Amino acid sequence: MPNRDCRYSHAGLDPVSFPHYLHRMADVHNKKTRSYNMSRIRSGNTKPELLVRKFLHAQGFRYRLHGGKPADANALAGKPDIVLPKYKTIIFIHGCFWHGHTNCKYFKVPKTRTQWWLNKINTNKANDAKAAKTLKKDGWKVITVWECALKPTKLEKGLRKILEKLCN
Ligand SMILES: [Zn+2]
Repeated sequence: MPNRDCRYSHAGLDPVSFPHYLHRMADVHNKKTRSYNMSRIRSGNTKPELLVRKFLHAQGFRYRLHGGKPADANALAGKPDIVLPKYKTIIFIHGCFWHGHTNCKYFKVPKTRTQWWLNKINTNKANDAKAAKTLKKDGWKVITVWECALKPTKLEKGLRKILEKLCN
């Protein structure tokens, strides 16, 4: 069921409402400004989760981070990167290596200490699955975003997808 409050329906994801800094730069006059905005989004925010936070904030979404401290009785499973209480939605941003992104070129098991790495990554994957299951059971919508979907050339599409998932 779509979020009724969501300002970003499918219809809203058009070039008019989509932030100007994510558009292909069409006209020369605005090129400088747009490049500047885009570089601001990227610079100092190379961490994918910061990038997504900044983007969501610019879109008017408000969120909490990390789902509370472990000692907090209300701490959420898996310590989510982004929690949007109003949308009852949680966003995990997974590094392709640490979380073992299947069929992804950024997930390559090291040739040394291979078994050690595999154990570690499989533990992470099991924890991810368990956390998502618990959260869904508690009525949260869980969105998983892979780091590879937020690389510079895929960024616009990646962010668009997050909005779509968030709003539907
Ligand atoms: Zn990946």
